[in-house]
Parts: sequence; structure tokens; C-alpha cells
Amino acid sequence: MKALPVAASPSLRLPRVITIDGPSASGKGTLARRLAAEFGCIYVDTGAMYRTLAWWALQNGLRCLKPMSAQDDEAIVKLMRRWKAEMRVIDGQAWMHVNGYHPAAEIRSDKVEKAVPVVAQISKVRDWMVARQRDCMFLGPLVMEGRDIGTEVFPLASVKFFLEADEAVRQARLANRGNTDSVGATRDAMDATRKKGALYPALDAVRVDNTHQTPDETYAILRDHVQKHFAAV
Ligand code: C5P
Repeated sequence: MKALPVAASPSLRLPRVITIDGPSASGKGTLARRLAAEFGCIYVDTGAMYRTLAWWALQNGLRCLKPMSAQDDEAIVKLMRRWKAEMRVIDGQAWMHVNGYHPAAEIRSDKVEKAVPVVAQISKVRDWMVARQRDCMFLGPLVMEGRDIGTEVFPLASVKFFLEADEAVRQARLANRGNTDSVGATRDAMDATRKKGALYPALDAVRVDNTHQTPDETYAILRDHVQKHFAAV
């Protein structure tokens, strides 16, 4: 059988998926929301999904603190398999609801902040979340942000960004948001070193270090890439 030359094979890229990954306070949320609004995409904050599970586990009295035993992990997985969670789109953003409720404020609490990287390290939790994140494709064109979106969730996305900024600058941004302890740094270290879904840039991601940029300057760079891509499809 004659092999097709690579250049002649159809593009397997997902034309309407934009991914943004990066550590905490690298600007993902603000930029993703703006891009989604400008380009008519649904915005998905995957951190909010992991936060929602961490909140629900705490509500149910489960342990979400290191060190976790295999039983602690399994209790969270069992809870996750039983909960009634669904994604609903509100004002252009897909939010995870639990029993019809969207815990917008609760998932930003200090307790959830500490619990979320612990919950996000559980392999079966990641498998479940990645499947739900891929299902979001059926909602419409997406801008999805997180830690592993360009590498694990949508490795075939056509536009991928990886945002970075010096640690001191990111700490200052977290402090501005009222996050005064080292939880951000601890979370980043746990996110970067876990076995599955670790934070690292996809080879084909556009890397933007915004240490010395204003949000508008970073946005202009991202917007330019997306515009070029959308003009070509
Ligand atoms: O983005 P945000 O800071 O709200 O994410 C909270 C936490 O959720 C991260 O620190 C990480 O532990 C987890 N997370 C993840 N994978 C993603 C998004 C978030 O493990 N794709």
C-alpha cells in the first residue's frame, strides 16, 4: 500500500480550542476570559473544577491534607463517582455545579486553596476531570485554562499558550488578591512535581513571560496569535 506523504494528510488539530496553561498568578484567568469574550468562545476555568471537588470533599468531612493514605484518596474518588456534578454555561463561562449549586465564593476559601492540590494529585480524579473537560468541546469553541490543558486534555489544540512570570512578581500578585501566605508557592511546587498532569509547557505552546508586561501588553500578544490562527481556518 502506498503511504500518504505527511504534508498531504489532513490536519488533526482542533481548530476551535485555545489552551492557556501556567502557574498561579501568571494571568491565565483574566486573559482567558478576555480572549473568550472577543473571539466568541466559551471560557472554561479548570482550576475551578478541581476547587469544586476539594470544596465538596471538605463539606463531606473527608481528609484533604498531606500525607494522604490510599484510603483517603479512595474516599475522595468514591465521593466523586457519586456526586451530581454538571457543567452549566453562565454568561459565556462554563461552571461546575454540584446538585444544581455553583459554589463560586466557597471555592476561593483558604481551606479549599490548601486542599485543592492534594485532591488534584489523585490519579483517578485527574482521569475523571480530563474526561469532563474534553466533553466541554460539545459546548462550542473553547478557551480553556489550567495546568495540563495543552499537554493532556487537548494535545491537538491549534492554539496553545504557556504563561510565565517571575516568582516574586506572582507572589506580589497573590498578595494583592489577599493571599498572604505561601500557599501559592506550595501549590505550584505540588502541581509541577506530581506524577500525572504535571505543569509544564507543551512543545508547541507559545510561551509568554509577562513579568515586565502590563495585562494589556500580554493580551495584545495572545490576541495577535489567535487572530492569525482564526484568519487561516
Ligand atoms: O487555576 P487555579 O489556581 O484556580 O487552580 C487551583 C488548583 O487546581 C491548582 O493549584 C492545581 O492543583 C489544580 N489544577 C490542576 N489542573 C488543572 C487546573 C487546576 O491540577 N488543569
